[in-house]
Amino acid sequence: MRDTVTPEVLHTVADLRDRVASHGVAGRTRHLNRVVLVPTMGALHAGHLALAARALELGDRVVVSIFVNPLQFGPEEDLDAYPRTLRDDVARLGELGVPYVFAPTAREMYPDLPVGTRVTAGPVASRYEGASRPGHFDGVLTVVTKLLNIVQPDVVVFGQKDAQQVFLVQRMVADLNLPVSVEVVPTVRDEQGLALSSRNRYLDAAQRRGARALSAALRAAASAAGGVVGAIAAAQAVIDAEPLAKLDYLVVVHPQTFLPVGDDHHGTARMLVAAMVGTTRLIDNAPLEIS
Ligand code: AMP
Repeated sequence: MRDTVTPEVLHTVADLRDRVASHGVAGRTRHLNRVVLVPTMGALHAGHLALAARALELGDRVVVSIFVNPLQFGPEEDLDAYPRTLRDDVARLGELGVPYVFAPTAREMYPDLPVGTRVTAGPVASRYEGASRPGHFDGVLTVVTKLLNIVQPDVVVFGQKDAQQVFLVQRMVADLNLPVSVEVVPTVRDEQGLALSSRNRYLDAAQRRGARALSAALRAAASAAGGVVGAIAAAQAVIDAEPLAKLDYLVVVHPQTFLPVGDDHHGTARMLVAAMVGTTRLIDNAPLEIS
């Protein structure tokens, strides 16, 4: 646990570069001088804070970015309504000991509209989350690339909660030879198993209880017999039994390709689930060992 600090909040690319680059101290070990980036969209909860805490173990020059990236929202999505709580976020990061917060405006990140060059995610991006959110992952990878180029971190930290995002970022880093290592932090959940999400605040009390069906489905799958088919059936039954949850997708993917596994798959896999609870779209995932 580090001492509470007052993070420096930097709003421009120039200030960020100036402050983070100048923080490196000659004579300190390479480890302490490492720059670690945690990209977020703010409205921070304990899941985000777990990423920041891990970042502080990996290096001293930790930058948490807070940017609600318009490029990854579809026209019908909650860009304007997305919660923005910068003051609280900065205070919570200060309690952890995070020295830098990068909070650019949309105009700072995208000064020349319409946006010209974008990163195109690989084919997995049109599945699962991408099927109901076309262009979402191109938007994510574009802003991640920009943040990597702005901050130039040694390590970038992501949450396993967004498993498809982790897969696509890891592929981008490998495919484009980006000089950064990707650290993945396990999903943080509440006592009832619900994966923490900035969107959980949209849920009323009944919906919050209904939302537990996602993690309950994953647990049912993990203990089900009958291979892939049995796992999917067990998870599906849990979601079907919850009247407030409307299933979007439920799939078992191969950890290396992120493509759906065949019914005869054995060994390690990952189950992904997405459902609407009221008007809120929730996702979750967990590893599966198929015997
Ligand atoms: P977001 O602000 O939703 O874009 O999330 C920023 C980062 O926090 C992403 O890498 C997410 O995967 C991660 N994250 C969000 N929720 C959780 C959670 N419950 N546990 C762990 N990481 C999370």
